[in-house]
Amino acid sequence: MTDALPQAVMAQLEDPFAQLNGNLAGTRRLQFEVVSSTLLSPHFQRIVLTAAELDGFSYAPGQDVMLLVAADGNRPVRRRYTIRYLDYSGRLLTLDVVLHGDGPGERWIRSARPGDRIEGIGPRGKITTSPEADWHLFIGDEAAMPAILAMTESLPVGSDATIVLEIPDAADEQEFSAAATVRLSWLHRMGGQAGEAARLAAETAEVELPPGRGHAYLLGEARVVLRLREILETRGLPQDQMSPKAYWGRGRANAGHGEPARDA
Ligand SMILES: Cc1cc2nc3c(=O)[nH]c(=O)nc-3n(C[C@H](O)[C@H](O)[C@H](O)COP(=O)(O)OP(=O)(O)OC[C@H]3O[C@@H](n4cnc5c(N)ncnc54)[C@H](O)[C@@H]3O)c2cc1C
Repeated sequence: MTDALPQAVMAQLEDPFAQLNGNLAGTRRLQFEVVSSTLLSPHFQRIVLTAAELDGFSYAPGQDVMLLVAADGNRPVRRRYTIRYLDYSGRLLTLDVVLHGDGPGERWIRSARPGDRIEGIGPRGKITTSPEADWHLFIGDEAAMPAILAMTESLPVGSDATIVLEIPDAADEQEFSAAATVRLSWLHRMGGQAGEAARLAAETAEVELPPGRGHAYLLGEARVVLRLREILETRGLPQDQMSPKAYWGRGRANAGHGEPARDA
């Protein structure tokens, strides 16, 4: 049983999130314990966590938890991962994490064993499915797959969803069950670099935008998300019908609060 951060390091942290107020109002601190960690597909590790604080915890599909994965001197290093499932009665929270190479988040995920402990804060994030939308367009890379599948699965019968997901290769495709009508395009990189805009941009330029009021969710690498937003703007989709979110920045570690640094 190992703590992600030894108690002595925790005690010395200068933590900007010591108080859960401001952006963090409505979140709670969760003392997680690892229940299981399994390789889901070549580039995905599934980790199941439990915590007493999951009693009475609620979240919207697409929201995430922020894990305190390491310390940089006395500064906390946090990483954000979307809640893929929450089993309320069993107090079990599932995260699907991309194995992209290296980073403090990935190192903790790879080392995590049943019984290990890590602090979390959640639920975080403002993006969930738009209740006003006649149709939903989800576009992203593999880091966004948990969010996209969780949101899609939450849509009621009669909803219309299109998913465009870029993933490393066919073996990383995941099954899911949705009540909505779903059109799905998997884009396989097949050895190509993550975080290049070309494939998702080409698909975004062509994807059908059905009649009625739609909402687009653009999630993934920071510059790619920016490019996809520009393309949909050019195609006439208003800003208030788009939810763009940078999950990571190519060639640069996320900041200690778990998002790409502002100037990335
Ligand atoms: C709201 C939100 C929800 C998220 N949900 C999930 C989720 O459910 N599952 C998930 O896996 N990720 C998710 N992410 C993305 C994840 O937090 C980042 O990928 C994070 O950078 C991983 O931390 P790290 O310490 O492993 O790598 P970092 O230390 O941040 O980065 C180290 C190096 O790895 C590269 N890198 C980081 N992430 C990726 C990637 N995905 N692909 C390729 N290269 C990468 C960086 O460019 C850098 O060069 C989410 C992010 C946000 C903001």
